[in-house]
Amino acid sequence: MVLEAVSENLFLPFLCSLSETPMGLIAENLRKAREIAHSDSRVPEQLKHYLQKALEVAVGLDPYLDAMATAKTASLEGWQLNVAGVETKVKPHKECASGYLKGQVLRMFVHMVGAKRILLIGRLKGYSILAMKEALPDDGKITSCAVEPYLGVKSQEASDYSSHVKQISVKVGPIADTLEELVAVGEHFDIIFIDAAQRSAVNYYNFVMDNHLLRMDGVICVENTLMKGQVYLENISDENVLAVRNLNNVINSDPRVEQVILPVQGGMSVIRRSLHCAVLLQKELVKDDVFWGYKRCHILDRLRLDGKVAYVTGGGQGIGRAFAHALGEAGAKVAIVDLVLAKAEVVAEELSLKGIKNMAMGADVSKPEDVQRILDAIVARWGTVHIACNNAGINMNSASEDTSLEEWDKTLNVNLRGLFLCCQAAGRIMLKQGYGKIINTASMASLIVPHPQKQLAYNVSKAGVVKLTQTLGTEWIDRGVRVNCISPGIVDTPLIHSEDLKPLVQRWLTDIPAGKLAQVTDLQAAVVYLASEASDYMTGHNLAIEGGQSLW
Ligand code: NAD
Repeated sequence: MVLEAVSENLFLPFLCSLSETPMGLIAENLRKAREIAHSDSRVPEQLKHYLQKALEVAVGLDPYLDAMATAKTASLEGWQLNVAGVETKVKPHKECASGYLKGQVLRMFVHMVGAKRILLIGRLKGYSILAMKEALPDDGKITSCAVEPYLGVKSQEASDYSSHVKQISVKVGPIADTLEELVAVGEHFDIIFIDAAQRSAVNYYNFVMDNHLLRMDGVICVENTLMKGQVYLENISDENVLAVRNLNNVINSDPRVEQVILPVQGGMSVIRRSLHCAVLLQKELVKDDVFWGYKRCHILDRLRLDGKVAYVTGGGQGIGRAFAHALGEAGAKVAIVDLVLAKAEVVAEELSLKGIKNMAMGADVSKPEDVQRILDAIVARWGTVHIACNNAGINMNSASEDTSLEEWDKTLNVNLRGLFLCCQAAGRIMLKQGYGKIINTASMASLIVPHPQKQLAYNVSKAGVVKLTQTLGTEWIDRGVRVNCISPGIVDTPLIHSEDLKPLVQRWLTDIPAGKLAQVTDLQAAVVYLASEASDYMTGHNLAIEGGQSLW
């Protein structure tokens, strides 16, 4: 049976002392040897000198690794967890600095794996749990299973702090039962952490692998797999050490995985599923692109845009800004183009903070010389253009009988002529290289006549964008250039906060099956998909993202 929260503290204060690591043990032995050498006049000075040197190197390593790991964040200093996953302020042990190193290593794993769900099997120090939790996204979760609660601070103190309780679930009880329960409810984890210093660790490892508790590209970390260096010594009779040695051997001979032991603290094995070895055992399986992934890439990797060069017009705010971030996060270099250079520069700065290569340019897309200038500048800097995101657009409102020629021309000039100029200039580069992705921003107004706002010129311009997209999409596909468009519904951006449109928001909401306006983040996956090679067979398509509004 699994007990949820019990009142005592689960995690002991850090138990980390130097002697827990192989290097710490070497240092301890060298220290003893040095004492003996110093008390014996027969020992040559040169031998004492070498002993001293070796001791300094051994003693210095672990503290140096700690010191060079990113310092603990303010929110982690002095905090531990109680059994209910509640933070508790306690004074950290003096000799526990090395907990920070492991915490930092684990946090790195969480980032690298992109982990959302973490399973801990056995005792893990509170600091490590909090360090991992810090790296989790908001909807991430840590499930910790332990046989019994640890001793520690009283529950009353603990309950004063509860900010992390939602992300950490502690299950106390027989671990085998807890694991069965997790399988029964279909749980799946990105990182599974097993403490080797528990008798049944090998059973837990086998259970995890046999029952697919680890997701496809997930990682198992096993702590304490070096057992202070004892695990590789001969003539060892200690049962605990032998159990860990057996665990290491089981993992090492398991054809389903590949692994490495890192000499971090007591030793940390990092294990991942290895499809190649597993496949050798299953000869009758069909091993085609569906199995291995097209070009040996799994589906999410096929959405990546690494090495690609993109630009986004109207990238200084709203939908364009969200597109620029999305393309950059997926790996592309991104040029931000906007009528207002200052806006483009702000977005470029945001991308720089994330490590995304970028440039900012001011341009009016309705002017051919501006369009040519931005494409020349991108090619001069990055060599080419793979992804053209023609998004800049304006919206003006008037009853059709009152629509001025000025409004008509201005709207068509930016929304349609400007978009055509961009498609043509980018298309010429793409046709030459035999590859390109053009993504135009149309609008739901291309499919329906949105009401009650009156926007003849806008509706016509966006219908034109769709026809232009279909025409180019079919004309250029056989030369490697795909042209598609996205038609957002009503998106919560500055564009709809104009004096004319603002009062209509409540009215629109009744027309949207989804019952809410779109956020710019609702559109980001679509632009990445259309920019990626995963959508290579798609062209001339108008992808509506409107919460169902065009269907009512
Ligand atoms: P927005 O007004 O918030 O941003 C548009 C950006 O384009 C601004 O930064 C502006 O400076 C820039 N821009 C305007 N004219 C330009 C020009 N001539 N050259 C270069 N840049 C120019 O608009 P948004 O809501 O982010 O809309 C972006 C696109 O999405 C537009 O094409 C719009 O028609 C379309 N769209 C918007 C909605 C919506 O509800 N917001 C719905 C459907 C379609």
